[in-house]
Amino acid sequence: MALIVQKYGGTSVGTIERIKHVARKIVATKQAGNDVVVVVSAMAGETNRLSGLARQVSESPDERECDVLLASGEQVSASLVSLAIKDLGQRARSFLGHQVRIETDSAYGRASIKSIDSTRILNALRSGEIVVVAGFQGVDEQGNITTLGRGGSDTSAVAMAAALGAGACEIYTDVEGVYTTDPSICPNARKLARISYEEMLELASTGAKVLQIRSVELAKKFSVPVHVRSTFADVVGTWLVEEDESMDSVMVSGVTYDKDEAKITVLKVPDRPGLAAQVFGSIAEAHIVVDMIIQNASEDGTTDLTFTVPKADYKNAIAIVQKIAPIIQAKGVTVDPDIAKVSIVGAGMRTHAGVAAKMFQILAREGINIEMISTSEIKISVVIDEKYAELAVRVLHEAFIEKQGVL
Ligand code: ASP
Ligand code: MG
Repeated sequence: MALIVQKYGGTSVGTIERIKHVARKIVATKQAGNDVVVVVSAMAGETNRLSGLARQVSESPDERECDVLLASGEQVSASLVSLAIKDLGQRARSFLGHQVRIETDSAYGRASIKSIDSTRILNALRSGEIVVVAGFQGVDEQGNITTLGRGGSDTSAVAMAAALGAGACEIYTDVEGVYTTDPSICPNARKLARISYEEMLELASTGAKVLQIRSVELAKKFSVPVHVRSTFADVVGTWLVEEDESMDSVMVSGVTYDKDEAKITVLKVPDRPGLAAQVFGSIAEAHIVVDMIIQNASEDGTTDLTFTVPKADYKNAIAIVQKIAPIIQAKGVTVDPDIAKVSIVGAGMRTHAGVAAKMFQILAREGINIEMISTSEIKISVVIDEKYAELAVRVLHEAFIEKQGVL
């Protein structure tokens, strides 16, 4: 008997009708002879509604209490999905994070799973029940409720699949799988049949919204076979798999964009050891994650230091940098929130030369100026003016994916 973990996202359980639909799918999986563990998100919009309530009560609401509040969204859907399954004549049992015992660290709002005790789940499965677990939540060592960050139910599901050694982790969502780019920008985007964990990690880190980054990291670490697919159309989606040789021939698997970052430049930083450490040390202390960093070669003994941070942290980051700039004798700070990061990702970049050159040529042909560049073995990202993001995505997709990347 196979064990399947199925995760249903917010839109999949967004209404009572949809919850009943999901329950029928779950029961069909059980009746086909599988053990089923379901992980659910809060009903669509619920997590936003709850955090809105907290902000109405307090300007900077206490993080522990926020997690108690936010976790309630998943409690509601876990219960409703169990009820709907029972209504179809199957046995089901819901579990909250602390009842399973999904233990996390104590980083409220962005906790990491440390361990999962699968005893109660295995007992329930053994007695023939379908198990429904509230996603997105856990409990720390002291018994405080924690949440895993936005999109965290994906991570709950993959972690559960890893802990139980499930045959597959199916992520049911409102799209049919992972696409070569955002279909709302590029009508020629196509669904990928397979994608390597590593490529998916780069896609998720550069703006693809379909999976939480941490869930992909976990899937890669524990080789969990993940199948991203639609709740509403009964078609095969995208499988996340180990990279194999056939993938080398595809230079670019996906084109992504991210408008959620802002750019900060510290002007004329004296060229001395320790100054970059000072700037980024202070930013790190404020728990702000820096993405791209550029430092130019110095000519007159000073250098400009440019970097990007999430827009949400941008005001905070400016305040920090403005405080440090005079201390390190920099000439000033400039900021630009109207940027976009556009990236191409593909395992084939490991073995093909000239991909970056081609990307830059394509952007140049459209008159798009590149402000920053960063690369990994299988990714090239550029920062450009936000107003060209859609155009850049379309021309890159056309050149690298629709025409299958002839250099
Ligand atoms: N309900 C949470 C959110 O909206 C977690 C999730 O849906 O994965 O971010
Ligand atoms: Mg999601």
